[in-house]
Amino acid sequence: MTITTADNIAVFDQYVIPNYTRYPITLVRGEGSHVWDAEGNRYLDLFPGWGCNILGYCPPGVVRAIQEQVSRLIHVPNTWYTEAQGEFARLLHTHGFGKAFFCNSGAEAVEGAIKLARLATPENRYKIITFHNSFHGRTLGALTATAQPKYHAGLGPLVAGFSYAPFNDLDAVESLVDDETCGILIEPIQGEGGVNIAADDFLAGLRQLADEHGLMLIFDEVQTGMGRTGTWFAYQQWKSRESRAESREPEFGVDRKSLALDSGLSSLDSVCPDIMTLAKGLAGGVACGALIAKDEVATALKPGTHASTFGGNPLAMAAGIATVRMIEEDDLLTNCTEMSDRFAGHIAELAEELSIIEEVRIRGMMIGIDLAIPATPAVKKCMDRGVLVNATHDTVVRLLPAINITAEQVDEGMAVISDVLREMAAEA
Ligand SMILES: *Cc1c(COP(=O)(O)O)cnc(C)c1O
Repeated sequence: MTITTADNIAVFDQYVIPNYTRYPITLVRGEGSHVWDAEGNRYLDLFPGWGCNILGYCPPGVVRAIQEQVSRLIHVPNTWYTEAQGEFARLLHTHGFGKAFFCNSGAEAVEGAIKLARLATPENRYKIITFHNSFHGRTLGALTATAQPKYHAGLGPLVAGFSYAPFNDLDAVESLVDDETCGILIEPIQGEGGVNIAADDFLAGLRQLADEHGLMLIFDEVQTGMGRTGTWFAYQQWKSRESRAESREPEFGVDRKSLALDSGLSSLDSVCPDIMTLAKGLAGGVACGALIAKDEVATALKPGTHASTFGGNPLAMAAGIATVRMIEEDDLLTNCTEMSDRFAGHIAELAEELSIIEEVRIRGMMIGIDLAIPATPAVKKCMDRGVLVNATHDTVVRLLPAINITAEQVDEGMAVISDVLREMAAEA
């Protein structure tokens, strides 16, 4: 099928609910970090699939796995066993912890986490503490957890029991805990909120608070999981209070390079949540979400308490397994960390030159360039030069490049971003 973008927009105007702001581009094909539109233009995508395409477009291993699976079984319900679901759960355990429940999206995983936190704690407990500028999804529970008024407008009454603390403010969290609190839900690195990285001791502080009060500590790793930040899961980069006390290194105690090479080594010393949510990159671009829970917590999700018809279907599981295998076999955690340093070098140079760059926040392939001016114009200007980026939280140019991006692509993308930011600085 080839359709011009103009004709396609006319079809959308007539038949598609207009709840998205779309750029006037029809995408038709992608390969790695490149994507082509209906008019034959090629783009370097530094925000592929809104973070879902963690291995870029159509990663070969994932394509092969889907092709093999699709002619055998597409869907079977969870009244039966499939080999693929067990194997994917085993792989996630190997690189992380606990047991898995599979669903189809980030919001669905967060809903499951909210239910599990309530079920795994005494019956009178239902309240959950989340953080300003968080993002947890658009279904009513996940939306209520999302502490950003703009997303709540017009949708009340919301779900009861949520309260909100400033990010990185442990005292504020403590003051919100009461006898009815069942959990704390946090992104170790806030994505949509502008790439805000939890302070070195913050997650360990939350872990201690949760232990003292019998709360479920929930990490929303929908965006940060699956190698996005240079380790399998972001939490593996935060050291526990015990291991921080033993370490002589001042803050970010573990060498990131060695972490990337063997993140398993660090899990003993890291701040492990009770519950973790995954989606976005989880199955290399195929719709898939997961809830991971420590064994002793997972038992609270008894038969009948929760379900998802499509959850854990063989197609998504095959794609998920292939995603893990590609990250392992191509040593993509190392690539992620090396390319992160390469981006950081380029951006640091640019920040020397341009005073409009206020702060750079970067961990793996999660990059925020915070400007003193609105960031939105950068998106269109980069797009006109063939590079796709995102703007969030008014002033932040955000990149979520594929973790298998190449050095040449980093250089090419940063050359365009640098030109665009220079131009914006001149106009400001
Ligand atoms: C994207 C995102 C979600 C929501 O995921 P959907 O698949 O859109 O429902 C939840 N939490 C975080 C941290 C996210 O980045």
